[in-house]
Amino acid sequence: MSKTPKDARELIAIEDRFGAHNYHPLDVVLTRGEGCFVWDVEGKKYLDCLAAYSAVNQGHNHPRLVKALGDQAQKLALTSRAFRNDVFGPFCQQICELTGYQRVLAMNSGAEAVETAIKAARKWGYKVKGVDADKAEILVFENNFHGRTVTIISFSSEEQYKDGFGPLTPGFKILPYGDMDAVEQAITPNTVAVLMEPVQGEGGIIIPPAGTLKTLREICTRERVLMILDEIQSGLGRTGELFAYQHEEGVRPDGLILGKALSGGMYPVSAFLADEELMGVFHPGDHGSTYGGNPLAAAVASEALKVLQDEKLVDNAKAIGKRFEEGLRAIHTNSIRELRVIGLWIGIELNPEAGGARRYCEELQGEGVLCKETHTHTIRVAPPLTITAKEADWTIATLRRVFERLA
Ligand SMILES: *Cc1c(COP(=O)(O)O)cnc(C)c1O
Repeated sequence: MSKTPKDARELIAIEDRFGAHNYHPLDVVLTRGEGCFVWDVEGKKYLDCLAAYSAVNQGHNHPRLVKALGDQAQKLALTSRAFRNDVFGPFCQQICELTGYQRVLAMNSGAEAVETAIKAARKWGYKVKGVDADKAEILVFENNFHGRTVTIISFSSEEQYKDGFGPLTPGFKILPYGDMDAVEQAITPNTVAVLMEPVQGEGGIIIPPAGTLKTLREICTRERVLMILDEIQSGLGRTGELFAYQHEEGVRPDGLILGKALSGGMYPVSAFLADEELMGVFHPGDHGSTYGGNPLAAAVASEALKVLQDEKLVDNAKAIGKRFEEGLRAIHTNSIRELRVIGLWIGIELNPEAGGARRYCEELQGEGVLCKETHTHTIRVAPPLTITAKEADWTIATLRRVFERLA
């Protein structure tokens, strides 16, 4: 390399030349973040309304997380699970006490935690429920997003995610999202689990009708099928509850999958949580990960959970989310087809005539608000949960201005 490239155009060109083209990012090149804000290489400031798909719920570069990462990095970063370390155990206790599950299995990416849940459910099916070998079925839903491994894309309903990646993994049935009659009908003696996002994030902030999870809980209990919720994006405060399933009374899944905000954007940490009956299917050697549960991960995730609690970010998500909802509902435009809001998670679905969400995201970028379209017609608004009322009001005013201009 001859010289360090500096300007945005140069950096974009170099990324496009050497990086695989598996994303289509907005052409904004960021170099610094703090709280709700990020700055590009030219010094322009933006309010981050994506928050790395809710990984940065605690805000960018939270000083406590920076410190936790730095302190632990100076001491011990990786032991592998071949040896024990003094951070992992206390983290396990902390997350189990917070969530009310008996055991946790730590991984790195969200997809790995989903894979862990699938392996646990299948093994539970064979060893506990008594399903015949290799016959286990897992029910999932249309429009789902659970990650990008071959097994996970095998049950995606998005053709692009699967195209060219076969042969796919069998053993999944895809049902209409939130359709509990379909779940009842699809269950056979071989069904081991239902895997669901309590709110579909990548799907466009799709919120199932009230009572859906309660009904699912009843069906799963009655049929002896595991209820497994993927709260990688919906969990840890985004919806105005610690977990999205807490919006309904008396619902507790058998397995809970976390990731993203579990480490406040500082480091990849994911987890699968369950009680002994389910987690007990794993014995030494069955499953694992070199980096899973490493001291850095445990230190950062432990602090990220404390920050959520100490700063009452769940309550803030609820309050500011309400503010966003009121502000956005007051924008009268033909461009908006539907506004979907739960906590601080907002999907603005545009009418097809509006010309696509990407155009709005690019216009918002010019105004200092970073949003990302999900699918073609939905703008997702999901800032860090640390956002203040003043910052929210400014964001709402900016959205209003852009909607008026593009109308
Ligand atoms: C992001 C996400 C995943 C995948 O997480 P990765 O860390 O990208 O592997 C899985 N499920 C849901 C609901 C997600 O939002």
